[in-house]
Amino acid sequence: MDYIEIKKILPKGVNLLAVSKGFKSSDIEYIQSLGQIDFGESKVQEALLKPVFKRSNNLCWHFIGRIQTNKIRKIVENFDYIHSVDSFKKLLKISQVSNELQKMPKVFIQIKLAHDPEKAGLSYSELISNWYQIKQLKGIHIIGLMTINPKGLNAEQNFELFNKCRLIADKLELPHCSMGMSNDWEEAIKAGATWIRLGSIIFGKRNS
Ligand SMILES: *Cc1c(COP(=O)(O)O)cnc(C)c1O
Repeated sequence: MDYIEIKKILPKGVNLLAVSKGFKSSDIEYIQSLGQIDFGESKVQEALLKPVFKRSNNLCWHFIGRIQTNKIRKIVENFDYIHSVDSFKKLLKISQVSNELQKMPKVFIQIKLAHDPEKAGLSYSELISNWYQIKQLKGIHIIGLMTINPKGLNAEQNFELFNKCRLIADKLELPHCSMGMSNDWEEAIKAGATWIRLGSIIFGKRNS
């Protein structure tokens, strides 16, 4: 399947984020020419070096990578959405910086639903025990939860974890779930994803 075919079959309410990390401005502009507006990058420095990022001709940029605390200011300055907030401390810092810069990024809290040493995120209990404080934070608009499944799961296992994410988001009255990548996006949609994050299936194989 390619970009156009995927767009055709996306259910209403499911947004497609084109993950352009590792791809050049001209690749991004080609996908933009097909009607895409939302693009995701996982490294601040890499994004800032892309000419298309600076031109930002009506594109909407999403940060999806591991957040280093010393990059939070740059992230808040340059991105409209942040999908990958993986600790309460970073959330607090993002809120402070956003307030100071008079920005209001849309934020997803990354939640970790299965044991996976490679993946970050708040556990369910961390999320719940901090939820009251999280809701008080100014300068950010928390719109949902984000999750990345461990590698090597089958379709049913992927669905189960995505479904868990959806149930927690519903319980907290959060409208959005950012979940599903090139290898598991169909299960994510079945489970109620509202943002799927697709890279290689759209852009082809990454070099980096
Ligand atoms: C790279 C990346 C994606 C896209 O991955 P593909 O497998 O290329 O679709 C999605 N989400 C995050 C957080 C990523 O880092």
